[in-house]
Parts: sequence; C-alpha cells; structure tokens
Amino acid sequence: MTSFLTHRARVHDAALPPYRRHSALRTCLTEFAPYGLRATYHHLTVSARMPRILEADPDSLVRAVEELNEARALWLARAEQYAAQRRAEKRAGRREPPVTAWWDRPWPGSPDAVWYQDPFLHPPLSLPDYVRRQNALLDGAGLPGCPACGEEGPAVPVPTGHGRAELCRCCARVLVPCPCDRWHGYQPQPPVGWSQTWRRAHMTGSGEPNPHWPTLLETARVERLVAYESPHGPC
Ligand SMILES: [Zn+2]
Ligand SMILES: [Zn+2]
Repeated sequence: MTSFLTHRARVHDAALPPYRRHSALRTCLTEFAPYGLRATYHHLTVSARMPRILEADPDSLVRAVEELNEARALWLARAEQYAAQRRAEKRAGRREPPVTAWWDRPWPGSPDAVWYQDPFLHPPLSLPDYVRRQNALLDGAGLPGCPACGEEGPAVPVPTGHGRAELCRCCARVLVPCPCDRWHGYQPQPPVGWSQTWRRAHMTGSGEPNPHWPTLLETARVERLVAYESPHGPC
C-alpha cells in the first residue's frame, strides 16, 4: 500500500486521537496537493468544514481526505495514460514531451506560484473539479476563462515597478506576465502566516468561517499582492 493510502486509513481510524488523524492528513497532502500543500490544506478546511477544535467534528478530517483521494484517483488515471503515451512517443523517436503535464510543472516560475505565498488564494473549485479541468486542458480542450479556475471577468493589473502583469481576479494566476521577460513572484501584503492557517484560525470552533478573522486579510486579496523578482528566471 502506498504511503498515501496508509495515511488515508489513519485519517479514517476513529480510535486515534484527532490530532494524529490530522497529522496523517498532512502526510497525504505532502504526496498530493494540486493547489500546493498550504493552499490545498486551506481549501480542505473550508470545503470539509474543519473546525478549529478538531474534537468538535473529527469526521471533517474524513471528508477532507476523501475529497483529496477522489482528486488523486483522477490524477493517477490521467498520469498513467500520459506515461503510456510518452513511452509510445519515445519509441517513435520523440524525446521531448509535446506539452508538460500540469503535475510536472515545477512551482518556481509557474503562473500559479502565488498560491504558495498566500494559502487563501486558489481556485474555488473542488479538488476533483480542478483536476478534471487540468486534465481536459492537457487533452487540448478549449476551455474559456482563466486556465486554473475558469473566471472570465477582467484581469487585475499588478504593477511590477517597470511594467505590469495581469492576474486572474479570482485565483491570482498570472494571465499576462510582465513584458520584461523575467519571472516575478507575487506575495500578499501583509503576509499570511502559515501557522495560523494550519491551526485554522480562519474557522470557528464549529467549522464555519470565523467572523472575527481580520477582514483586512479576507477582502480584495488579489489587490493586496505585490510583485517581486525571483532568481528562478522566466517560466
Ligand atoms: Zn483563476
Ligand atoms: Zn518585469
């Protein structure tokens, strides 16, 4: 059994204390996290309604790991198909893949690297829907809107000091990069602390969004981003 499945079984194990089941969920996320570990965790806290006090609803951990597992199964099926396709292409003498699969894109330099800087920024799609969308794009489907989330509203311009980039207004994916050709990262001001997110300070004890979470951190998230230049080079 893979580590993911072993730890998924631990998340389900009601005989374990909730903090151990929570830590098993984290291990699952180190193996598969389509929005990146932090943003995927944030997504699951909201979609599975994970309360700040886990004892109030330990089943929320099961809902979270099952959403992740469903998305992982869709990814695994597509990844196996992709690997078979690549083997056939290599046999035919084609060494380079025609397109990089979405799961093989390194995050530094990727247009959605901002989700690593601000775990609250990620598509609003369920994880299975996000994987379906990415798989469809890999298959060449012409889907409208932001490639990550499908948002069709106008992009948000973010100044880079010498030009500007345009980011999705919903998930902050870079839609039009800065024309200078160097890669820019984007981070929120003020920064979002991971330890508070990990402890679900944005949720109430019963698993609802915390009304006392500073509204400064919730409103106009894309507008709070500032550009920085990174040594990772252009994507
Ligand atoms: Zn988007
Ligand atoms: Zn630039």
